[in-house]
Amino acid sequence: MWSTTRGARPGAARSSGPVDALRDLGALALPVDCAVCGCPDDPLCARCAADLAACRWPTGPRQVRPRPCPPGLPTVHSAGRYAEALAAVVSAYKDDGRRQHAGVLGALLAESVDAAVGASPELLAVLAGANGPVLVVPVPSSAAARRRRGDAPLVAVARVAVGGYAAAELVVAEALAPRRRVADQAGLAARERAVNLEHSMTVTTRWEPVVRGAACVVVDDVLTTGATLVEAARALGAAGARVVVAATVCATQRRADAARHPRSGQPPPASGAVPAGRAARSGPAQQTRGKR
Ligand SMILES: [Zn+2]
Repeated sequence: MWSTTRGARPGAARSSGPVDALRDLGALALPVDCAVCGCPDDPLCARCAADLAACRWPTGPRQVRPRPCPPGLPTVHSAGRYAEALAAVVSAYKDDGRRQHAGVLGALLAESVDAAVGASPELLAVLAGANGPVLVVPVPSSAAARRRRGDAPLVAVARVAVGGYAAAELVVAEALAPRRRVADQAGLAARERAVNLEHSMTVTTRWEPVVRGAACVVVDDVLTTGATLVEAARALGAAGARVVVAATVCATQRRADAARHPRSGQPPPASGAVPAGRAARSGPAQQTRGKR
């Protein structure tokens, strides 16, 4: 059931012509200047859409891991590098109100979620046994960010990402909420981020009975140090989630590796991509994708 439904999902069509498709998705809203280069009359111009597509890992989503890898980090799959045009669109989407790019980012997150599900025997078993839905849980915005932005932009991206699945298979679950104030993560080192976020999230009362025993995919826009995903997985686990994996739109590269491999899209293992032997479990996702 899982594979047949996946075949009909929007991500399947998009993957055949990513540049045009990403561009079309970006153009759904009223025309404005390009979110990346600022050229007029196109929210994501052809050149920048091509640049954005070039930020995807050329062989498809992959398992990624920050260095150092924080304890408690769930398995994370990501669609590409947080760099250049993709970083610009993430920023424009989140902080400049360019909400028309939910489609672009959601298409990438869909690929990551597909890979995360395909790499997890537990999640595949849930879907094969019609024991879902698997909960796709966006990391929560801080109260301050929600006030500043007026909404929770990641939720819209997550909704696009699950668009090709039946509601009985994958659903977006806004199950996590902040339970205390945290400092802005920007500018904090990895260890400081971890301390800043420790025990900062909780599963809301309403979602507790749903999360208990559920299989979850935590989603976020960017994997940086992994501290946010660690805390999200901890909170879900504390509420009784049976299995937690993670998927992000993109992942940061270590500066040194990014400098050495500026546009290859093929970072060496040191940059955070998991060595081939460790990523072997992503095989089913790759095979299924090929059948679409
Ligand atoms: Zn442009």
